[in-house]
Amino acid sequence: MSEIIKKYSQKYKKSEEFFTKGGGIIAGSGHESRPQKPFPIFVENAKGSIKFDVDGNRIIDYQMGFGSLLLGHSHPAVMEKVAKRLEQGTHLGALSELELIWGTKVKNLIPSAELVRFTASGSESTLLAMRLARAFTGKKKIIKFKQHYHGWHDYVVPESGLNTDFGVPEETTGTITVLEPEIKIFKKYLEDNTDVAGVIFEATGAHWGQLPLKNPEFMQNLRDLTTKHNIVMIMDEVICGFRVSEGGAQKKYGVLPDLTTMAKIVAGGLPGGAVAGKEEIMSLLNEGTHYKNMYHPGTFNGNPVSATAGIEALNIISNEPINEKADANANKLRIGLKEVLDKMEVKGHVHGISSIVHIALGVEGEYLNEISQVPHSELEEATSGNLPRMIKLAFLNEGIDIMGGIGFMLSSEHTDDDINQTLYGFQNVLSALRSDRII
Ligand code: PMP
Repeated sequence: MSEIIKKYSQKYKKSEEFFTKGGGIIAGSGHESRPQKPFPIFVENAKGSIKFDVDGNRIIDYQMGFGSLLLGHSHPAVMEKVAKRLEQGTHLGALSELELIWGTKVKNLIPSAELVRFTASGSESTLLAMRLARAFTGKKKIIKFKQHYHGWHDYVVPESGLNTDFGVPEETTGTITVLEPEIKIFKKYLEDNTDVAGVIFEATGAHWGQLPLKNPEFMQNLRDLTTKHNIVMIMDEVICGFRVSEGGAQKKYGVLPDLTTMAKIVAGGLPGGAVAGKEEIMSLLNEGTHYKNMYHPGTFNGNPVSATAGIEALNIISNEPINEKADANANKLRIGLKEVLDKMEVKGHVHGISSIVHIALGVEGEYLNEISQVPHSELEEATSGNLPRMIKLAFLNEGIDIMGGIGFMLSSEHTDDDINQTLYGFQNVLSALRSDRII
């Protein structure tokens, strides 16, 4: 038996008991990125960069709410505001001033935001943006790029890395065209097809930059071509919004889309999302403005508790060097991880933009201006199969929880101690992988 799995089963005994008990309650593990084999961990509470599980293990967290917690877990100012808000009601069944303040924060930070609409999640945001693009242009097709992830709804499943489109009818996927993220291919497609409503893309490149875009030229070229062909450019900033700069990727790279999709950081660690963009498109949601309106009556749109957390988080990001701190932490981690690989004589590549870190084992290559120069096929190969799962378990054996692929989301709250412990842990991870004959 694998030593990694043996150690994991011992360290996370209670989680295994909970998971076994949960077999008759929850379908699967509740979320595909929680490792299911042999069982996922059950966590009880979290503060800053640390979370504690049901076995009492102290875990350095690099999932950070799947990227929602740029300010770390349980930020005191956010918690205080949310606690106060909870005494005043959780759902008002009406607009509140909070929604206006929240929308103003988004408009102030995101350069292309003329009007804002709040949703309850990232998937809802991409669904809404795609429908807006179709309603605005009167056309049907949406282009997405290979491996780019935009949530789990039917329209964004094709070639998104979810491994299956089981249950999604081909009538739906037939309205989506998946292209390689190459500008020549995109240009040719637009020249040959007149039924395109819009294009959606992850502004970091697929899977929060695991397969990075050749920024910023690619995005600028997309902008030029979408303008020329009158199609809607949707920049998916669910992960990178407020993270890669306080104004997201569009501020960092100076490329303004027609629509931006957001979630995660925008709601300060509570459920929530947003779509923002050009008034002429967003106003399709205004009653009586157009000959037809689009409807979007979500029960939790603009929820006051999420608004409260979102306003406070965006306030802090606007006024304090949060992005700079998180970026500096990631930089230390990237440099340290590469040093460990070299010291342990393991072939591998470390990359990622701003506060995001990715490892690709088995490949080497340059990392220039935050962009890995390694071909996507090699990066994809290096992060597929059994390896990411075993690395995740081996890191958990060291009390470190990483993201899927082989990735890390940093926050402003990670400390030098966390990073040093992670680097020490990484040496043990590589040794364990060697002992298990995985590398
Ligand atoms: N778009 C991107 C770029 C994402 O990373 C995600 C979630 N990781 C989504 C959309 C979907 O967001 P949610 O999980 O909130 O539905």
